[in-house]
Amino acid sequence: MRVSMISEHASPLAVLGGVDAGGQNVHVAALSIALGRLGHEVTVYTRRDDAALPDRVPMAPGVEVVHVNAGPIEPIPKDEMLPYMGELADGVVADRHRARPDVLHSHFWMSGLAGLDAAHRLGVPLLHTFHALGVVKRRHQGVEDTSPPERRWLEPRVGREADGVIATCSDEAFELKALGVPPHRISVVPCGVDLEAFTPEGPIATRPRRHRIVTVGRLVRRKGADTVIEALAGLNRDLDVELVVVGGPGDVAETLADAEAQRLLALASDLGVADRLTFTGQVSRADMPTLLRSADAVVCTPWYEPFGIVPLEAMACGVPVVAAAVGGFIDTVRDDETGRLVPPRDPEALARTLEALLGDDEARRAYGAAGRARVESRYSWGRIAEESARVYRAAAAARPSSITVASGGTS
Ligand code: UDP
Repeated sequence: MRVSMISEHASPLAVLGGVDAGGQNVHVAALSIALGRLGHEVTVYTRRDDAALPDRVPMAPGVEVVHVNAGPIEPIPKDEMLPYMGELADGVVADRHRARPDVLHSHFWMSGLAGLDAAHRLGVPLLHTFHALGVVKRRHQGVEDTSPPERRWLEPRVGREADGVIATCSDEAFELKALGVPPHRISVVPCGVDLEAFTPEGPIATRPRRHRIVTVGRLVRRKGADTVIEALAGLNRDLDVELVVVGGPGDVAETLADAEAQRLLALASDLGVADRLTFTGQVSRADMPTLLRSADAVVCTPWYEPFGIVPLEAMACGVPVVAAAVGGFIDTVRDDETGRLVPPRDPEALARTLEALLGDDEARRAYGAAGRARVESRYSWGRIAEESARVYRAAAAARPSSITVASGGTS
């Protein structure tokens, strides 16, 4: 099939860890590469944010990234991109280098708007993945949510008008139904993990203390690094635990200057654990497995999480995960099998869980092995690409106007 992906802010070629670059970039890149491996032709349309970017970049066999001029040619926050979705749709429709796609697959609500427009003009079906839902974000962030107000009514519209919505977890499927998306148009296909890059074997970063817990993510409040710092302060000091916070707007110096890092450092000093807290800044994909392997546990305690790829990466490295029981983690982390699920925003419960886990070598080993087995059986990108292609085919078959009919027939 010919598949056109639309991902307005999350380029598959971007460096990860900054405020707007995370799981969606990984998802779009890895899904596209895996579809290419299956013999599909994939074009990913993303917004040009740098004049030096070439129009077209071959990314992998069968996969090309196209930079579309849509709005100012410079980095802008994703919440300011809405006015440029028409230009993005124009770029997709006007791409003369590619034959008409069989399906469009848009990512994030704003790309969904460009997708609805482009799909209508091209006469092809649109599949959409939200990656995050405004209704959930508002519930948790309230007035701090910087999304444009139009998201309230445009996001449900994308859900209702797309030919199909691909949710990444069962919790999201419930939210979508509540938004009015017809249940028969919702499929659940999770994100995957790169099982060759993230492995239990391989180099392990050295660590200065007896135990290490690691938390990974963009440095934004909702990722809940403060909960882990508060839990660290509640751990028995004799356990000799350090916390490594991975992610940030740049290298260590840039990250330490970041307002959220400053807030976390101040919290750690107030609680007397600043000497056991390290920020790494942005870590490359290549270095991530080495770092994850050095952890006794990878801890993910966001307020909410649309999917969350980090637990899969930890499990693939054979490392137990301690995660808040929210969003995608409810599907991916099996409590007392691949790690532990804890109540969200509850440092006390997290501290007790970590204390038990760090004191139990056998449980950590068993959880790590079970985690690797689980991702191998369920979360390879090859399997995720096959499941996605099945959804694409069903959407194309359900929309007769998009199927080319031999002479004599009608479409
Ligand atoms: N990541 C990375 N380097 C960093 C920080 C994060 O490569 O410095 C990666 C991380 O390994 C994961 C992704 O960014 O693959 C974050 O995805 P997730 O779904 O956990 O969170 P999101 O950022 O989408 O909210």
